[in-house]
Amino acid sequence: MLDLTYELPKPKVIAGAKHDWELVIGLEIHAQVSSNAKLFSGASTTFGAEPNSNVSFVDAAMPGMLPVINEYCVEQAVRTGLGLNAEINLYSAFDRKNYFYPDLPQGYQISQLYHPIVGEGEVLVEMAEGVARNVRIERIHLEQDAGKSIHDMDPNMSFVDLNRTGVALMEIVSKPDIRGPEEAAAYVTKLRQILRYLGTCDGNMQSGSMRADVNVSVCRQGQYEKYQETQDFSHLGTRCELKNMNSMRFIQMAIDYEARRQIAILEDGGTVDQETRLYDADKNETRSMRSKEEAHDYRYFPCPDLLPLEIEQEWVDDIAKTLPELPDAKKARFIKDFGLSDYDASVLTADTVSAGFFEATAEGRDGKLAANWVINELFGRLKKDEKDITDSPINPDQLGGIIALITKGDISGKIAKDLFEIVYTEGGDPAEIVDARGMKQVTDTGAIEAAVDKIIAENPAQVEKAKQNPKLAGWFVGQVMKATGGKANPKAVNEIIAKKLAQ
Ligand code: ADP
Ligand code: MG
Repeated sequence: MLDLTYELPKPKVIAGAKHDWELVIGLEIHAQVSSNAKLFSGASTTFGAEPNSNVSFVDAAMPGMLPVINEYCVEQAVRTGLGLNAEINLYSAFDRKNYFYPDLPQGYQISQLYHPIVGEGEVLVEMAEGVARNVRIERIHLEQDAGKSIHDMDPNMSFVDLNRTGVALMEIVSKPDIRGPEEAAAYVTKLRQILRYLGTCDGNMQSGSMRADVNVSVCRQGQYEKYQETQDFSHLGTRCELKNMNSMRFIQMAIDYEARRQIAILEDGGTVDQETRLYDADKNETRSMRSKEEAHDYRYFPCPDLLPLEIEQEWVDDIAKTLPELPDAKKARFIKDFGLSDYDASVLTADTVSAGFFEATAEGRDGKLAANWVINELFGRLKKDEKDITDSPINPDQLGGIIALITKGDISGKIAKDLFEIVYTEGGDPAEIVDARGMKQVTDTGAIEAAVDKIIAENPAQVEKAKQNPKLAGWFVGQVMKATGGKANPKAVNEIIAKKLAQ
């Protein structure tokens, strides 16, 4: 395998090979629709249930059973399309995709090949720090998930669990607008964030609620630009599809491996075969699953059990009215209203719970200070405890109370950290704790002067040194803070020491 390194700037150019190559990536993301019931049956979608307990006669494909579309799943697909600024197709239709597999009792999957419910859209993705670009969405269609075959429970037998059979999936297909492994991860992350904001998919990759088929090709430098100008795919290289990736890290490693593999073949004078490949994380390599010649002929045809799906613009408009504020808008608002940096605003809007926590904390207070406390103190502390923001022992009222005490000058930043720890572990009202435990900052200059005088009187040698070298005044500041239990107002201490040493 060639030893290649990726070089910025964009578009990503791969150095180390004989020629300059560029990566081209398009993703097909399967996102499980958040819905209590399946796409065409009333069976439950609960994850982790007893095998084969969430299976209706429709899911088990009993003779004579007919699918009935779940309106809520359709609404979720429409909501997703609206969240991705996509065209909503008022007319869509379901097709049968025929193939045999033990975990597919119908012998076909109901999908939408010719008339998907959602057309072209786009997602703004921050590809690198400060570099954002739109990735175009080609389409989103609704389809059924298959069941699960389990091969590793018994040496002689395989098992089939039909709980997942018939669960609604959205297949979100991107245009080949992604140019490297990190960009692919950034795209999946952003898409997941939007779906979670919308509440249309929980985005849990580990449980398989979100998985990606990753299409990778490479082309010589300049070819992608020609594709961009003409939208003619013949300018691009032959792609391979990496199936069923369900980890952000593996997506990146698989793309990296696959690009090197294709470049090595091409530089050897060979050609890349269009094929479906599987990524083996243990060996960090991709293996051929089937080539184009062996590709299934799914014999798609319109599903005779279902009428075409016609929805009304009015209904779409009603759904549009219920859309929440989405990540880009929320981030822009945080920057504008609270004066946050781009970075802090990104961190705080990563999920709605963090964003809500921050907003409640910052409301009517110093926004930047609140951001600092949420990101550095609270998130840091939660991480140490391996806790999620949803399990935060401290609430926005309490954290906001601490911030108000700092802003008022009642406590110093250092005491605030002690106070935070007390509230975090013991609970309680910050202002009351400060009063009860005498944690208030000493701003009484008389008291501070007395402490300074005492230390000056006790340390004549240090005084002489500090008079020669003003930088040594810091030692006195430390002593005064120690003498006052850290409660002296640091600004006042500095001023008084400077004044006394100058005398
Ligand atoms: P299929 O129906 O065979 O899966 P599609 O046209 O739907 O083919 O494309 C599937 C995915 O492959 C899309 O996400 C698309 O952007 C991507 N894709 C198409 N051509 C290329 C290419 N040359 N390199 C990388 N990705 C590609
Ligand atoms: Mg496809």
